[in-house]
Amino acid sequence: MEDPTGAPGLGDCHIHMILDGIYWKAAIRRHMEEVDEGWIRRVLAGYRDQGVTYLRDGGDTHGVCLRAAQLAPEYGIEYRMPVFAMHHRGRYGSIVGFPFDDRSGYRKLLKDALSQGADFIKIMVAGILDFHEVGKMSCEPLPAEEIRALVEEAHEAGMAVMLHINGAKTILAAIEAGADSLEHGFYMDEECAAALGEHRDTVWIPSMAPVGNQIGSGRFPDEVLEQITRDQQAMVRRVVQAGGRVALGSDAGAYLVPHGKGALDEYRYLAEALQEEMPEAAVRQMLKENEEWIRRRFHREQR
Ligand SMILES: [Zn+2]
Repeated sequence: MEDPTGAPGLGDCHIHMILDGIYWKAAIRRHMEEVDEGWIRRVLAGYRDQGVTYLRDGGDTHGVCLRAAQLAPEYGIEYRMPVFAMHHRGRYGSIVGFPFDDRSGYRKLLKDALSQGADFIKIMVAGILDFHEVGKMSCEPLPAEEIRALVEEAHEAGMAVMLHINGAKTILAAIEAGADSLEHGFYMDEECAAALGEHRDTVWIPSMAPVGNQIGSGRFPDEVLEQITRDQQAMVRRVVQAGGRVALGSDAGAYLVPHGKGALDEYRYLAEALQEEMPEAAVRQMLKENEEWIRRRFHREQR
């Protein structure tokens, strides 16, 4: 039977419970004094009603995803989160995480996340896209050696690593460093696609909804948004052809990506990208399998 939602049984492997898809400052303010449990329950109920049983959060600095993980079982949802994300001070990431200055600072954050019950580690290793111009990003990425060291240290602590990442060179370095998941991953090249085909222990979450959903909103030039979305869809095809893992994560909570609808939108972008590659049932099957892989990987046994 065809599911009316269009994304039967698929979870969302990249959300931010703290954000609301409208305005990030107001969304965060909602939880400033204390975590707004009513908000979390409403969002979780929406996901449950949509048939979602798995969510993976990208982190926040107010304990919102941590609380969501505690409440989610009441809604029949497996909820995995890093507590907070981490970034090198001065680079992108303060919206969802805390900064480190050096390796010892990173180690401290790692310990803190572990002690608070993180399921995995989330690190921001590149900037966000500048939608005024194709190829432009908000800041310099971390160097390859630093990415390797950060991933290695998290692995030694027994944690899977989710990386916020963009840019071909940085992505290639992260795949070679053994990062477990690549979030966004815009501006890949053929070499990245081939590397993902070889390294099936790295999954890619192309998160097209935050870009594609802004087309027509008038905030940025549509031709830039359209090209970035098309290029990302083309790369999804290349990675799937190469045998790499691609999974569904919408970055729900980002501007114009509401919770629940985000997963449906992202599914549409993925299905469209692969429509000439495979029947839609095979797309769903592939996404389901890679979600299952994420469920196993981004889970801390000892918790
Ligand atoms: Zn995110």
